[in-house]
Amino acid sequence: MNMPLASLPLESLVFDNRFVRELPGDPQTANHRRQVENACYSLVLPTKVSSPRLVAYSREVTDLLNLSEATCESPLFTEVFVGNRLLPAMVPFAMCYGGHQFGNWAGQLGDGRAINLGEVVNHRGERWVLQLKGAGPTPYSRRADGLAVLRSSVREFLCSEAMFHLGIPTTRALSVVTTGEQVLRDMFYDGHPKNEPGAVVCRVAPSFLRFGNFEILAARGETGLLQKLVDYTIRTDFPHLGPPSPETYSRWFEEICRTTSAMILHWMRVGFVHGVMNTDNMSILGLTIDYGPYGWLEGFDADWTPNTTDAQGRRYCFGNQPHIGQWNLVKLANAIYPLVNKDEPFKEALALYNQLFQQGWNKMMADKLGLQAFNAATDDLLIAELLELLQGVETDMTIFFRNLAQVTMSENGKNGNIQDLPDWLMEACYQPQQLNEDYRKKMTGWLHAYLARLQRDNLPDEVRQRRMNRVNPKYVFRNYLAQRAIDKAETGDFSLVGELLELLRRPYDEQPGKEEFAVKRPEWARNRAGCSMLSCSS
Ligand code: AMP
Ligand code: MG
Repeated sequence: MNMPLASLPLESLVFDNRFVRELPGDPQTANHRRQVENACYSLVLPTKVSSPRLVAYSREVTDLLNLSEATCESPLFTEVFVGNRLLPAMVPFAMCYGGHQFGNWAGQLGDGRAINLGEVVNHRGERWVLQLKGAGPTPYSRRADGLAVLRSSVREFLCSEAMFHLGIPTTRALSVVTTGEQVLRDMFYDGHPKNEPGAVVCRVAPSFLRFGNFEILAARGETGLLQKLVDYTIRTDFPHLGPPSPETYSRWFEEICRTTSAMILHWMRVGFVHGVMNTDNMSILGLTIDYGPYGWLEGFDADWTPNTTDAQGRRYCFGNQPHIGQWNLVKLANAIYPLVNKDEPFKEALALYNQLFQQGWNKMMADKLGLQAFNAATDDLLIAELLELLQGVETDMTIFFRNLAQVTMSENGKNGNIQDLPDWLMEACYQPQQLNEDYRKKMTGWLHAYLARLQRDNLPDEVRQRRMNRVNPKYVFRNYLAQRAIDKAETGDFSLVGELLELLRRPYDEQPGKEEFAVKRPEWARNRAGCSMLSCSS
């Protein structure tokens, strides 16, 4: 009898642990902090916890693994994905990587609180690495404890799934489980540590390799191992590039430039700010990875960063993300240079990054505005003027673009000279007192120009609206929504986590009855920790 695919028990997951099989590991197996040379990983076991409780799991990710609802709700599932029990084919390990943090080489970092359980091959032949975050220390934990708290775990779990449903490349999250243990955290590094509930997220991705996995080997002069890891990566995750060779390495780098540029364009489209774009947080597959002090733009502001650690330099603010993407790619290029030994391919790929970003940006903005196609002659100015208006007066980015679709072409005739700001626009404005004469004049002027531009395209309103609503989400994982779910979860009530998970599965749909989750940030959240200010402490 053929068992239906969607009802496989946990024990039937098929593992093929290629990373540990093909690459050299650390010969030491004791779990103490150390520098790990000439190796890509260290074997390490998750730490057992006292009383795990399942907070939530993602249906779409369980589908990828062909797990049934009953399996996910079984005690074994919770035990395995908190790290208390291993399935027989699991070979847990932590990876060695380094990174440039805030512009400086930081040496060995590594999976300090991530433990890979193994690589599952699903019924479609896809490879999915399962990784626990917060399951205890590893040789790479440095001075930290290897743990994670509930607030940051809920943020990672919900945001990675929200990003996926927005159509943005990302690592996925299978589950989040509380451990029953307390974890001491000084949230703002200001001498006020507090006990918080511990939790473990199980992340899922085809690969968790970062730029930093390659950088550490180059920095140590371990060129042979660097080549081994690059060849492994190409064979495993980029087989379409052909067998490894210096030419293949160049094409590989070019592809990373492409995927990184595409990922950051998506972030810019939806107002996502990663918050810590260190090279150890850059996925080799161009996936959004390591959800820490990230945030979503409320008021449109290129200088905004949610990360208090970065409040001074604003290196990782919204508007700087495209530039930092390239800066990080330069660091990766330096790392793999010894395998190619030519400047040109790298220079060309880095130039391509800029070009793709610029083209992509123009197309993305045209899509957000509902234009048929970007036309530099008219649209450069239209877009620049709009961004200046949005930046000048605190305007909710998500609501503005979503509501802009409500403009109808007949409005031009009806309100030949729009005197006042339309209601849909007022819904996006945070501070009515900012809307002075000058702004009103400029904004109504812009709306006229926009309507005239739409007339030239002459797309039916409904067609344009439908297109705009596919790129301008109604629901994003607003910072204050995350905080509401966390506040509740910390009292043991996980209902809002479940409700938001459900809501964020369809971010582009209107979802009548759910409008309370699409409104602008309430005033209580303006300066509240966790809503507008986050730190790396999680
Ligand atoms: P992040 O800023 O979260 O990307 O982390 C940078 C480095 O610090 C990575 O090597 C992490 O694994 C490590 N790290 C962060 N938090 C912890 C923790 N609580 N315990 C151990 N290592 C950590
Ligand atoms: Mg990280």
